[in-house]
Amino acid sequence: MREAEPLTTLQSRYRGLAIEAHILELYANAVGTFVASTSRPYFLDPSTYKLADPIFGDFREKRWADVLLENYGLQEATQASPDGLTPTSFETSTSGSKNMLAEVDPTKFAKVILDYERERVSTVGESAKVWDVLEETGALLTPDDFRPPEFLVAPYFFADNTKTLDLNVKLAHECVTIRKTNEKVFAAIAVTRDNLTSDVARKRIVEKYAGVGLDGLLLWIADFREWAEDSIYLEAFVQFISELKTSSPSRQIYNLFGGYFSVVLAARHLLDGTVQGVGISEFRDPFSTGGGGIPRFYLAISHQLVGTDIADDLAQVAPELLKCSCSECNPKSPPGSMSFSARDRHFIFCRTREYDEAEKRAVSVTIQELQDSAARLDNVKSPNSELLKAHSRQLDKWAKTFENLVSAGLIS
Ligand SMILES: [Zn+2]
Repeated sequence: MREAEPLTTLQSRYRGLAIEAHILELYANAVGTFVASTSRPYFLDPSTYKLADPIFGDFREKRWADVLLENYGLQEATQASPDGLTPTSFETSTSGSKNMLAEVDPTKFAKVILDYERERVSTVGESAKVWDVLEETGALLTPDDFRPPEFLVAPYFFADNTKTLDLNVKLAHECVTIRKTNEKVFAAIAVTRDNLTSDVARKRIVEKYAGVGLDGLLLWIADFREWAEDSIYLEAFVQFISELKTSSPSRQIYNLFGGYFSVVLAARHLLDGTVQGVGISEFRDPFSTGGGGIPRFYLAISHQLVGTDIADDLAQVAPELLKCSCSECNPKSPPGSMSFSARDRHFIFCRTREYDEAEKRAVSVTIQELQDSAARLDNVKSPNSELLKAHSRQLDKWAKTFENLVSAGLIS
């Protein structure tokens, strides 16, 4: 929970918080209290995709797995399907003359998940233990601070096949049906990147979600690395967002796990929001458990995180590339000597400044800046010049992509 301090300090610079259920369950008191202590809205991602076959195999031993299964009423179902849930777990089938009941009733499941999201943070606020913690830290919180989320997220699974996609749509539909007055329901579209470049696949997804009556969508394109994708994928991603918008203009669209590219899309109001990890990865592969993070520093000129060793080298050979007006950066102390929190605050400062700048100026200015930065990175003589040249090429790629999107009338 080292992100809590910088996120609390800099809460005026972002709109809200995205909390993953399994992280909440790992550190329930700390995360719940953190959410309550900021005045920002939040949403709770139920992380149900982690309970599906074959992803569950990597997670079943995790400390949070049992807690989530219990909260979601899935213990029996996962005993019957120890590798995790599949679309079949939600189907009632007929075997001979017998009706085989579904392991998980989709209607009940939708209700359990929404109830969990509605109440989980409040439950933390009611727990006596928290009040002991608060007494020690002196935070002034009341039970009302442990408020419900801004919107609810329908349970979802990573949809690498049509059956799962259909199940997600069904679960989203169930949630919309049972939502209470004034409650908003979002659904997550979690798919592979191949869908982006196929007109047929994109259209199929757009159509499936068109009639569900959702208030918003969360996009998760697996393993989508904005800083390494070719223009064709970046443009197809924007095309997808645009098609989703057109099919239901009142729906909000957030990108999960985004980077700089998403920041610009959000600033230009193509996206209604982009979820940015602090000091964590800017992409997510559902089939990878991830690993411990190495210390990283946000290199604002290339809009990417680099290892602190690389940042320290640059501080020696090209300090002008690290120039930053945040309150943490100081030319006299290299990035490697900054604390984790200071580097996180630097990151939040830079990311939110990128948003502010991209929002108030024309895309043509952003394009020009990307081209200028690319040229500067290309010219640095350093032991890391290969890496910097790669960053430079990516900035040119982004510039080119934005130019194409402007020509296509998709962004302005
Ligand atoms: Zn800084």
